[in-house]
Amino acid sequence: MDHCTTSDLISLEQALEKMLSQIMPLQQTESVELTNAAGRITATPVISPIDVPPFANSAMDGYAVRVNELNANTALPVAGKAFAGAPFTEQWPANTCIRIMTGAPIPAGADAVVMQEQAEVSDQGVCFNAPVVAGQNIRLAGEDILQGAHVLPAGVKLGPAQLPLLASLGIAELQVMRKLKVALFSTGDELQRVGQPLQAGQIYDTNRFAVRLMLEQLGCSVIDLGIIRDDQAALRAAFIEADQQADVVISSGGVSVGEADYTKKMLDELGEISFWKLAIKPGKPFAFGKLNHAWFCGLPGNPVSAALTFYQLVQPLLAKLAGHTEWQLPPRLKARALTPLKKSPGRLDFQRGIFSSNADGELQVSTTGHQGSHIFSSYSQGNCFIVLERQRGSVAAGEMVEIEPFNALLRS
Ligand code: AMP
Ligand code: MG
Repeated sequence: MDHCTTSDLISLEQALEKMLSQIMPLQQTESVELTNAAGRITATPVISPIDVPPFANSAMDGYAVRVNELNANTALPVAGKAFAGAPFTEQWPANTCIRIMTGAPIPAGADAVVMQEQAEVSDQGVCFNAPVVAGQNIRLAGEDILQGAHVLPAGVKLGPAQLPLLASLGIAELQVMRKLKVALFSTGDELQRVGQPLQAGQIYDTNRFAVRLMLEQLGCSVIDLGIIRDDQAALRAAFIEADQQADVVISSGGVSVGEADYTKKMLDELGEISFWKLAIKPGKPFAFGKLNHAWFCGLPGNPVSAALTFYQLVQPLLAKLAGHTEWQLPPRLKARALTPLKKSPGRLDFQRGIFSSNADGELQVSTTGHQGSHIFSSYSQGNCFIVLERQRGSVAAGEMVEIEPFNALLRS
């Protein structure tokens, strides 16, 4: 039910701009061991302390040669062996070759490696049956990364694509941004914690669970203050405690009409908070501002709305605050709607959909079904948002729409 005119609603872009323009990244950094660095964000550019590879080595199993000693009619006796981890270090007599394995250091003086498939071995030595060019099959020192090169900028999240690179450089410890401390509570007399039986009129607290999981995935330290009753004194105490402990305080519920004025009155006392009606669906009511010490985000109570506003608004805020400058949502893509999609003009709609590519490689998307803001299963069935423009009405099957694939926060 939505009797509201859309003129007093602010757009998602405006809300994001208002939030992100106010906050600055945290300044504190700390040193962590590489083995504990997964999920952390680089605080400074990472510079290579060594050349990679650190020495010239063979790209093939074969024979190291001096090209000017090669003569089509003469076999070169094998003077020694070079293995990965066991270089050839002896005197290398003229007009001989050295048996060499992949990864073995190139013996001093060698200027090519001939792969063993192009070698004929006899009692006299080795003959080569293909032309040999100086430099062939030699991986040069520093060919991948030069000592002193910037390998990662500041502001990058460290994961399986980055950490092995740092391991290959022998970096055992590095400077990362400190973790964000985020305090979290749900509000509502109807809420029960998971594990307790439901009394008449109660529902389970979904939002705290959803938000805590997403915060943990984002690498935040979570301070979980539980369920707070709809009671002014209890709420005030929770806000004060949260503000003292955290960089960001996140609550859910109590920001829609009815309770809003009540929460609003108290937050006016504790900080500067704006209550916004966002022109997005789901997720119209949303609050943002500053308490005494921490930033504050007030999520709507309906679980689909709470998760969506967290994803679209709080996630970018936390990324900026944490110094994760490279953060961005997956790009929006065009897909053909396979099912009709119900919508009335007025708000930017984030329906949940299932996308795939058809036999021609074109993207297609279908709805997860009921899009009510209490239908949380729409997330678990979906793999993307179907993003429908504000002024658009219902979509017929066959029309093109924009989709935004879920990022790691919502993907299974
Ligand atoms: P409110 O914004 O507090 O008026 O809540 C809006 C709707 O969301 C109501 O139906 C609430 O019962 C429901 N709700 C609020 N908080 C939660 C929560 N943490 N988990 C599940 N449902 C909630
Ligand atoms: Mg409530």
